[in-house]
Amino acid sequence: MQSRSAAERREDLVALYREASGCVRCPLHEGRTNVVFGNGNADADLMFVGEAPGHHEDLQGLPFVGRAGQLLDELLGEIGLSRKDVFVANTLKCRPPGNRDPQQDEIDTCKPYLNRQIQLIEPKVICTLGNFATKLLTRSNRGITSVHGRPQVHELGGRTVRVYPLYHPAAALRSTGTLAQLRDDFARLPALLDEPPPVPIGAVAPMAAAVAAADPEPSQMDLFG
Ligand code: URA
Repeated sequence: MQSRSAAERREDLVALYREASGCVRCPLHEGRTNVVFGNGNADADLMFVGEAPGHHEDLQGLPFVGRAGQLLDELLGEIGLSRKDVFVANTLKCRPPGNRDPQQDEIDTCKPYLNRQIQLIEPKVICTLGNFATKLLTRSNRGITSVHGRPQVHELGGRTVRVYPLYHPAAALRSTGTLAQLRDDFARLPALLDEPPPVPIGAVAPMAAAVAAADPEPSQMDLFG
């Protein structure tokens, strides 16, 4: 099947943004100021998925605009990228009260938005930031401490993509060791982006696919620019 043009996919992403902006699928809508859909380049090769909006994100309707976002910007700059080159989204589009952890039913309810974003943006690499995004997109219970910095291949949004788990920038702000590890993992991103696309999971022998999936290899800022 012919792949859709970037302009067509962007149009669909804007439609999805409009739909999400009025979402009342879970009780989090009652306490939100804004839905934080995500922003950046709608045709990005690199996508980041965080946990959930915090206080500043909820007020501005933009992802990662607080201190964790400043660190994300700094780390992107160190590898020659900026927010305009990437798309940034979250596992949840609405702020949980008091910044508590996302609940499983909230994650399940919000997941179709993220899946559709991945389908429309068609990133080559998805960086999951922290435990919630990592467990959701790798469909595993393995925590970030054991999987960070090790790319995995997964079927997401109908495509085979590399998932690259990273520590959450907020965790890196609390620990210099975690920050050093995050910086190290970030430094390997350019090489990962240069790799040829992964072999579609359906196209490899079933046993090899199972191994690839299970055993990892060693506006909003110009809304969607
Ligand atoms: N932390 C997140 O996980 N997402 C944001 O958007 C901001 C902080």
